[in-house]
Amino acid sequence: MTSCDQNLPKQTIFRDSTVLSPHFVPKILPFRESHIGEMTAILYPATKSKKPRNLILYGKTGTGKTVCIKRVMEELGKRESSASMMYMNCRVYNSRYRILQKILKGYVPELEKTGFGLTFLYEKLIELAGSGKQVVAVLDEIDMVKDLDDLVYTLTRVNDELKAGGVSLVGISNKLSFKDALDPRSRSSLYETEMLFPPYSSEQLQKILSQRVGEGFQDGVVDNSAINLAAAITAQESGDARYALKLLHKAGEMAEQAGRKKVTDDDVEAARRKVELDLAAETIATLPENHQTVLYAIAKISQKGSKYSRLEGVDESFLFSGEIHEEYEGLCKKFRKRPRTLRWFKEYLNDLEMLGLITTTPSSKGIRGHTTLIKLGLNPSDIMTILKGRFSD
Ligand code: ADP
Ligand code: MG
Repeated sequence: MTSCDQNLPKQTIFRDSTVLSPHFVPKILPFRESHIGEMTAILYPATKSKKPRNLILYGKTGTGKTVCIKRVMEELGKRESSASMMYMNCRVYNSRYRILQKILKGYVPELEKTGFGLTFLYEKLIELAGSGKQVVAVLDEIDMVKDLDDLVYTLTRVNDELKAGGVSLVGISNKLSFKDALDPRSRSSLYETEMLFPPYSSEQLQKILSQRVGEGFQDGVVDNSAINLAAAITAQESGDARYALKLLHKAGEMAEQAGRKKVTDDDVEAARRKVELDLAAETIATLPENHQTVLYAIAKISQKGSKYSRLEGVDESFLFSGEIHEEYEGLCKKFRKRPRTLRWFKEYLNDLEMLGLITTTPSSKGIRGHTTLIKLGLNPSDIMTILKGRFSD
């Protein structure tokens, strides 16, 4: 051991924590062998210069959609072929223009410079596909594409003009209702084949976690009961394997920080709260400004206490939408933003409720007419901490 090694903290808990990261692609994906087999069979024609059917993968977050397509891409990429498979996350590639540009970038060096119109892209695409090239574009979180109907329309036209070559799509969506939002024509084109990824059960999560624990943690560090608890908590909430892995990873970090040599049930319980806060922070960070302002207003009033809490018949943990609206307007004024109308304000409340950040109920008769009562899902001080950078007084 060199003197340098001696200064490094000894790895007593983790063997390789990258194995626990959501980007890691494990060699074996239990409970998804048939999905992977079917996807490979559907996309295989691309390696033989034939256009595969379009494919949609759908199912809730953390059901293995991304990791499975990555595995399939790895497998097909090993073969000698003229096909190219391209993965894009549509949070970044969120328009027809960006997606076409990304598809073409490797073949059309001019595209490094910007300023080309859609017609140019279209012509280049025809040229590329006309040369016999098969492109499979994997659009992860496809529901984020603003003009998806236009994209599908353009690609259908490209494919119609050509005998050999073409572009197929693999779309991935966490939203089950996404299909209904599409124009019927692009729906039938995109949904040539669809595959559902169901949430994992507690037993399935136990197996997935045990496999990762074996690679990511040192031997004997994680109690079996801690694995089972993480699996049970997750199955009860969502069946989201990413959440389960986060729980164990965080539990490991907490044990390590405390200088303990084992990860126990207590660590998993403590990690649960921490993970929930992290997830809330992620959700809140990506909210538009007005939503954040309304949420901050709710946190502020929750901390101060409702003006009406002493009225008879009022559950004091609830706030009135009127007082929150006033606070929202005050905040907008303070930060020189124009407040949106009451109709929008109600939309924001609705969205916050959908995201699980607040709960709302209509008031019972007699309390200040008819109003909406609001309750924060998290600690007000946690919300204030998360949003501090934006709204420090
Ligand atoms: P989705 O794209 O459906 O939201 P991911 O594919 O990103 O889900 O999976 C979330 C996490 O769970 C990733 O870390 C992934 O490696 C892991 N995971 C999902 N399914 C399995 C499985 N069957 N076996 C092992 N790990 C899995
Ligand atoms: Mg995904």
